[in-house]
Amino acid sequence: MLISTRIEYFLRSGAPPTMKGSCVDCKNEINRCHPCSRHGSLTRDPSHSSSRYSSLGSCEWGRASNLRWANYAGTTGAYATAMTTAASRWTATSSPVTIYKATASTATHFQVNTANFGNTHWSGRAPSYATCANGYYTRAIPLQLNTYYLCSYNAQRKAMVAAHELGHNLGLNHVGRESDACAVVTLMNPFDDVRTNCSVYGPKADDVRGINAKY
Ligand SMILES: [Zn+2]
Repeated sequence: MLISTRIEYFLRSGAPPTMKGSCVDCKNEINRCHPCSRHGSLTRDPSHSSSRYSSLGSCEWGRASNLRWANYAGTTGAYATAMTTAASRWTATSSPVTIYKATASTATHFQVNTANFGNTHWSGRAPSYATCANGYYTRAIPLQLNTYYLCSYNAQRKAMVAAHELGHNLGLNHVGRESDACAVVTLMNPFDDVRTNCSVYGPKADDVRGINAKY
């Protein structure tokens, strides 16, 4: 099912143009290439004519409030700050979403693994290893941050990537394309560079509409 094929990838600055929007990006993720092939066709959700958001699969959290992220590995220092900032950006939206760092007495919904995953063409990703039952996630799902790229990103961009991944973990798919005008670029645009160029560092109205449609 779709959630089992979730993949995250981004093109870093200067990536060869021939790779943009192509499943070539997924050459190391052969079994999880499906979202790449949809890249060029993600335009509008026909059921929401004024929206562009797209839902990622059919699984979701039973609620969007009081969700918790935890450091699985490596998410310290600037990366912990990025997660905290990203969570606060979602929490500040006009939606049910509130995300905080897990404590010893809370559940964990997002396990954040920060490491140098190498020259993978993704700066962050939200692969779903979770089980889904009756439409709901039954345990924590991963969120991966790739320091190979993120180490050179400033704090604003690190948090942007983290916020984008949280969007996936909340159930949003990519929307839009590299050529989109800034007026329609949302947090769930697949490209780091596009979001940066358009100063989209957190959820935009369309991202929030997507969440409010889901929760
Ligand atoms: Zn993404």
